[in-house]
Amino acid sequence: MECAYALRTKYKGKKVSVQLLTNVRSGNCTQNCAYCAQSKDSQAEIEKYKRVSDEKLYGDNDLVDEKHLARHCIGLSGIGFSDEEIEDLADRIREMKKKDTQICCSIGFLTEKQARILKDAGLDRINHNLNSSRSFYPEICTTHTYDQRVNNIKMLQSLGFEICSGGIVGMGESKEDIVDMLMDLREINPESVPINFLLPIPGTKLADRDISELTPDYCMKVLCLARLMVPKSDICLLYTSDAADEEDSVDLGGLRVIEKKKKKKKKKVCNGVWTITHADTRAGAIGTAAVT
Ligand code: SF4
Repeated sequence: MECAYALRTKYKGKKVSVQLLTNVRSGNCTQNCAYCAQSKDSQAEIEKYKRVSDEKLYGDNDLVDEKHLARHCIGLSGIGFSDEEIEDLADRIREMKKKDTQICCSIGFLTEKQARILKDAGLDRINHNLNSSRSFYPEICTTHTYDQRVNNIKMLQSLGFEICSGGIVGMGESKEDIVDMLMDLREINPESVPINFLLPIPGTKLADRDISELTPDYCMKVLCLARLMVPKSDICLLYTSDAADEEDSVDLGGLRVIEKKKKKKKKKVCNGVWTITHADTRAGAIGTAAVT
């Protein structure tokens, strides 16, 4: 932990950045990622829509601008998009960039032509996670491959995009798998590495997955390892608060967290609202906690 902290302060100081996530397209994905409520095999009851309203998207972007948040993250379910859908998204990005917010898009696989359209519109960063190791990947998804993901990231990097890429811990992978994934991320060297800890969602293939191994100490070891192996990247903690124990969760984040932190208060966990715990201070100590 001390080594991780030394690297964190060397490359990142003590800064914590906060990001806001807008789900632009939700559900109806053609893929079968085992952890995902939006997958074609998921029975999870989620809201499904193809295009979030301009009011919501631009309202969120205004909030990012007004609160001086580090980034506006935009998530779209699915892996394939028509050129018309990409043109539509590019128009919306152009509109948001009038505020000069930093924008990151999680958008599956793109053709080079589509990636260029988004680049020309001003998109700064693309999120495309490795999710796990190459050898474990077929256990969590069979509709696309790990190498497709790696190749997509390389194509995006060649066009000059910043990359956000990380993984999910707690899906049944071995410790060696986590190291293998981090080795590949080290080679990719993304600007940002989100480390997710599995929240088993009812209705998904991993609904009954035992996550008792995800103790705060274990999570902290994974985060420290990420800092040690990818030392110059932001380490992002993305975690869903309703799975967290109030006293012992890892850093959860979000605007309300920061506000609560300033007041040195604890906030009870509830859906969609991030919580602050004593542990988040420790997590903040090892990485730039870019939180959504
Ligand atoms: S490709 Fe994305 S949206 Fe589709 S199932 Fe996998 S994680 Fe979910």
